[in-house]
Amino acid sequence: MRQYVILGCGPAACAAAREVRVQDPRGRVTLVSREFTPFYLRPALADFVAGSVGREALVQQYPGILEDPEIEVRAGCRVYRVFPHESRVLLSDGTSLYFDRLLLATGAAPRLSDYAARLRNKVTTLSCLADAVRIARAGLERDAWVLVSGEGHAGLESVRAFVQRGHRVIYLTTHTRFWSPHSSVARSEVLQKLLKEKVEVLFDEAVLDLLDLNGERYRVVSSSRRTIDVSLVCEARELVPVTDYLEGSGLLVDHGVVVDPDLRTNFDGVFAAGDVARVVDAEGNWQRTNFGWESAAQQGRVAGHNLVHGNGLAVTEGDTHFAQLHGSRLLERWQR
Ligand SMILES: Cc1cc2nc3c(=O)[nH]c(=O)nc-3n(C[C@H](O)[C@H](O)[C@H](O)COP(=O)(O)OP(=O)(O)OC[C@H]3O[C@@H](n4cnc5c(N)ncnc54)[C@H](O)[C@@H]3O)c2cc1C
Repeated sequence: MRQYVILGCGPAACAAAREVRVQDPRGRVTLVSREFTPFYLRPALADFVAGSVGREALVQQYPGILEDPEIEVRAGCRVYRVFPHESRVLLSDGTSLYFDRLLLATGAAPRLSDYAARLRNKVTTLSCLADAVRIARAGLERDAWVLVSGEGHAGLESVRAFVQRGHRVIYLTTHTRFWSPHSSVARSEVLQKLLKEKVEVLFDEAVLDLLDLNGERYRVVSSSRRTIDVSLVCEARELVPVTDYLEGSGLLVDHGVVVDPDLRTNFDGVFAAGDVARVVDAEGNWQRTNFGWESAAQQGRVAGHNLVHGNGLAVTEGDTHFAQLHGSRLLERWQR
């Protein structure tokens, strides 16, 4: 009986676990998540903060996981190191998991700027359930000022969450990274929407320093030496693959875990899927990383099949495997 270990509990991991069980009914699967509530709809975090989605709708079991006795979910366990030569994963509680096949599906997390990393306890992010609960419970006055520093989808969704919560928002962003020119939603439309919602957008300004005024408010010093007093500071910069636990493992990491279109890494029996992976085709003609709930699940299904059979399914360059978003169209979400 083969042991399959899957790192992560998001859509890529869960879709892979289900596919493994279909392809290898005798196989045993262990899923590992550093979060204590492993299953929830990450794309709905902004709606939860905004107050339009309750906890019951946000926290959803992935179908077919908990009811399967051959799938074990290790929640609240952080992967600390991976030793591919020993077929072993070390968790931060000191225990090890041994595998015949391993899937890395640890997703992506916001890249923190230097000041935010330094003052981590004074800056919030909105990328997981714990972040969202913390923001919702912070008890900010409805018209309190919030500063969001960020870009792209994560920046826009964070701004929306605070605006819809009734807060006043200052958005620090950059002209070049504010909105991807490749997006199906035009930059001008996004900017118009922000201005219509009375978001104060400051282009090409970054946070230089953050001073704690009195435990309730912060003074932000921006790169043009402007001072801005706010009740909350949120970092919402681009998401980067979570690969810190792979240090020293020998697995090839370069802006994500490098995999071929069959989602195989440079080690036999070790695969990667979803936001953590960077797919590079054999001829080097294309390479892509994922952002999107549905496409992460799609990659998970491919990985699940190949975990069992070694290969046989491949992802293609098309958006089905890389940019399939869950939820309504971005600007429609602003309608209240
Ligand atoms: C704020 C925000 C808004 C988004 N909005 C949308 C949207 O509107 N529509 C859309 O389609 N997509 C959206 N996305 C993107 C979408 O959520 C991701 O593309 C998708 O969740 C990726 O799935 P995944 O399985 O690769 O990783 P994830 O869903 O990120 O799951 C990663 C898993 O790995 C676990 N993990 C990470 N590190 C460790 C470790 N060291 N040890 C143990 N466990 C670990 C995590 O706990 C988690 O279970 C949004 C993302 C964010 C952050």
